[in-house]
Amino acid sequence: MTAHDPAAPAPARTVGAPASAASWTERYTGAVMNTFGTPKRVLVRGEGSYVWDAEGRRYLDLLGGIAVNALGHAHPGLVAAVTEQLATLGHVSNFFATPAQVTLAERLLEVVTPGGAPAGSRVFLANSGAEANEAALKMTRRHRPGGRVLALEGAFHGRTMGALSLTHKAAYREPFEPLPGGVEFLPFGDLAALERALGDDVAALFVEPVQGEAGVRPLPPGYLPAARELTTAAGALLVLDEVQSGTGRTGTWMAHHLPHVGGGAVPDVVTLAKGLGGGLPIGATVALGEHAAGLLGPGQHGTTFGGNPVSAAAALTVLDALSDGLLEHVVEVGDLLRAKLAGLGNHGVAEVRGEGLLLAVGLTAPVAAAATEHLLEAGFIVNPVREDALRLAPPLILTGEEAASFVDALPAALDAATAGAAS
Ligand SMILES: *Cc1c(COP(=O)(O)O)cnc(C)c1O
Repeated sequence: MTAHDPAAPAPARTVGAPASAASWTERYTGAVMNTFGTPKRVLVRGEGSYVWDAEGRRYLDLLGGIAVNALGHAHPGLVAAVTEQLATLGHVSNFFATPAQVTLAERLLEVVTPGGAPAGSRVFLANSGAEANEAALKMTRRHRPGGRVLALEGAFHGRTMGALSLTHKAAYREPFEPLPGGVEFLPFGDLAALERALGDDVAALFVEPVQGEAGVRPLPPGYLPAARELTTAAGALLVLDEVQSGTGRTGTWMAHHLPHVGGGAVPDVVTLAKGLGGGLPIGATVALGEHAAGLLGPGQHGTTFGGNPVSAAAALTVLDALSDGLLEHVVEVGDLLRAKLAGLGNHGVAEVRGEGLLLAVGLTAPVAAAATEHLLEAGFIVNPVREDALRLAPPLILTGEEAASFVDALPAALDAATAGAAS
């Protein structure tokens, strides 16, 4: 045996030996901090819109890693891009520029606003949605020091202390107070309340064009264009959190490009993450126009990993796919899925809401958790985003047949959940 040979391939043992699902779950409980509860399945492999568990069972993944796996699992183009980038240059820190990082920032400026971002716009690349919003919150402090910051009831903007200060749910916030101050929550979609709250002491309004965690709730038509006018009049920034709704999820580049959602409103800042990297961690804070882009200067913000070439190469692959017909596919399959769900009639479905492939099946009874269990047993992954709603945020490559197979399985799961609730 010689000493460590740096040229030798590492032995492939980092993931450990195969084991049963039960033993993985036990080891999970023993080693992983209990912030998510006990996982329902141990997943070992994915391909296209499907994943497989440790017992070899297959599931249609209608959650897509929470609106992340835009190109599904093990997408050959994504695997090739990431592999090639990692084999060429994997990480260098932000003391240096890389072609992938620069190209990604340029591409984001092309797609963030129809027709391209206004002159002077710039991008900050981070690693997650919370970080993208954290940067935006810091920008608002620079825009109007000490100013009030407005967000909406039901808002979810992330879990870091700054992003958490913008997140509405008391159970997420209260254990961690005091949070960064100055944030006030306004009733969802209420323009009169917004008008009352705005003044020359307001630094910014944060909104999700479609509230994801609140149960897939699009803003009422007319809200965003009016909010744009009101924030402009008050000199406040309009920040759109498109972390979940952006990057093609709704069949347009950004959800606020949908005419009935955005009404042509151009925000000051757009935040992105989730689907942007197709599964690799990346976030972006896109500052529109010279003023917003200049709010953070040298030394005022930073990140070690943000914009690393591997994540940037993944994001470029996702953006290329969206340009090459995937946006149109999302509209087509989203419409089909919606129509099929609406066609189910009763079976406890109250409504179908959302846009593109960010949908919720609103239920007539609070049986979403039980329905999710029955669907899992039947080989379908969904998310009980509320006790009366199932969220669907599948890979954007989902086929019509795959969507139909889910709709065929849904009535039995809802019937079983309702029967369980009644007994
Ligand atoms: C998920 C989400 C976040 C937080 O993103 P992370 O990557 O989990 O930090 C922020 N905003 C919205 C709208 C989200 O859906």
